[in-house]
Amino acid sequence: MSCDFGLNFSNHKAEETAYLGLGSNEGDRVANIREAIRRLENGGSCRVIDCSSVYETKPVGIIEQPDFLNAVVRVTTSLTPLALLDYCQAIEHSMGRVRTMRWGPRVIDIDILLYGRESLCTERLVIPHPEMLKRAFVLVPLSEIAPSIELTPGITATEAAERLDRAGVRYFGRLD
Ligand code: ATP
Ligand code: MG
Ligand code: MG
Repeated sequence: MSCDFGLNFSNHKAEETAYLGLGSNEGDRVANIREAIRRLENGGSCRVIDCSSVYETKPVGIIEQPDFLNAVVRVTTSLTPLALLDYCQAIEHSMGRVRTMRWGPRVIDIDILLYGRESLCTERLVIPHPEMLKRAFVLVPLSEIAPSIELTPGITATEAAERLDRAGVRYFGRLD
């Protein structure tokens, strides 16, 4: 039996689970991470389901800058990947992030680490986040809230984190 009711669902996107990496090394870093989470929830298009502990991490790349605080959140969202990127960037902007150099100091950075099981490679957006597997400051908090999520075939977040040098990542505290 056909169940075609003639409805068009093309504008509806099923809720998807995504993981976002948050980082701050300017100003009140804890307040910045808290505020980013508040703003993620406030727009109504994202729900923050879980949040890792906060970790204090040595900067990588440009090392002459203050230490970061990093955390990872699990969200559910009906936004498409690109709309989620726009949303994260709007929050970064609204919190006063000025884009100077990549990897330089910032009030807040919000990166999309994973979006469901999607892989995407466009000029603006690469998912999974291309640097994720090399970054202990991402994998340590991610493995806290999603230890057995598979990042590459057969490799969980915990296993991927254990392969990295984690000396620069120290437990800092909980947000709640
Ligand atoms: P990194 O992405 O290596 O952590 P960054 O976070 O400092 O560096 P940004 O200045 O925040 O870099 O962003 C640079 C560009 O990265 C953005 O304009 C965005 O289009 C692009 N980008 C590509 N993939 C992603 C992703 N998965 N999450 C967030 N931004 C992404
Ligand atoms: Mg980043
Ligand atoms: Mg970023």
